[in-house]
Amino acid sequence: MDRGAESNLGLAVGQANEVAVFWMNREGTIDWWSSGAERIFGYTSEQIVGQNVKRLFAPEDVARGMPQHELTVAEAAGIGEDDRWHVRADGSRFWGNGFVVATRDAQGKLLGFAKVVRNRTDVKEQLEALRNRVKSEQEASRRKDVFLATLSHELRNVLAPLTTGLEIIRRGLPATRELHLGMRIVARQAELMRSLVDDLLDLARINEGKVVLSLERVALERIAALVIEAHRAAADQRRQRLKGLFPDVPTLVNVDPDRMQQVVTNLVANALKYTPEGGTINVMTTVEGNEAVLTVEDTGIGIPAHVQPLIFDLFTQAERVPGAAAGLGIGLSLVKDIVTLHGGSVQVRSDGVGKGSAFTVRLPLVAEGD
Ligand code: ADP
Repeated sequence: MDRGAESNLGLAVGQANEVAVFWMNREGTIDWWSSGAERIFGYTSEQIVGQNVKRLFAPEDVARGMPQHELTVAEAAGIGEDDRWHVRADGSRFWGNGFVVATRDAQGKLLGFAKVVRNRTDVKEQLEALRNRVKSEQEASRRKDVFLATLSHELRNVLAPLTTGLEIIRRGLPATRELHLGMRIVARQAELMRSLVDDLLDLARINEGKVVLSLERVALERIAALVIEAHRAAADQRRQRLKGLFPDVPTLVNVDPDRMQQVVTNLVANALKYTPEGGTINVMTTVEGNEAVLTVEDTGIGIPAHVQPLIFDLFTQAERVPGAAAGLGIGLSLVKDIVTLHGGSVQVRSDGVGKGSAFTVRLPLVAEGD
């Protein structure tokens, strides 16, 4: 750099009001102080030159040896970056973002250090506010988890004697058609409620980390076939074609069979629920690389693009389907939680409303010889 450029640079540094720039010798004694430094720290050049840089640090950082540490890092690495509280002449603090550069002569001998600091208290405050918000949201979400757990346990406690009571009443009832029809309706609703409460309970257990998987080596096709058979009657009733399309070689996975059956059941039950009469539901398995892949595909009402990214979140529901049993938007969230517990993932694909949906579960594949 020629002399002119150097002195221009000196002027620019000296006059930059938004940044504090100062030079220190090897021991950290300040020997040059810019007008920006005066503005930001509140010391005039006469007050601070000759003092140690420690003066500008918060007492807790001085106690931790931070002023010396900054210089040591800068000397070893050439530059040291640091964000910390600094103390002004009047004792007030500001959050400084800056760096220290080691300056050397042509022979590489250390001359001293230059430090540049900007007042970024605004950023620090925004960060703190954000951190507090995240903390209070986490706390609220934890309280909601506790509430869910308590609610589902309490509902379960009420439901069990209610079902027993119903059964006692049923046995004692005179066998009139009306009474039996009435009982059937009550029993069906109680069953629906039981399945909602079971989902809630499962969710609470997963949230609390209480779900223990009993892993077994099984063929995905076996689980899928069981679920298809369990839904055969319901599909026939709605004239829906429900098919399993499986490869010749079984797709082996290491899973908790009951939990995986729960996953496939949720997906197949949804496919039936959200596909009009006469539609088709295919349950397919395949292998992609080292992943076992199960897809439940339907020709149903589809899922709008804007809902797809949220579909596995708790309580998300897209369209209400007239006549379909009420849901809570828990099923897919459970699917995701269970698949994740197994080290797998789940995706949705739909070309939009009316264009059908496909849910794909991916699990680690177990090789034949394992
Ligand atoms: P629920 O079915 O109890 O509402 P889920 O978590 O199982 O809860 O599903 C969440 C939402 O995702 C449903 O309300 C529905 O809008 C949508 N959905 C799930 N499966 C399908 C599907 N196969 N086709 C269309 N929409 C679906």
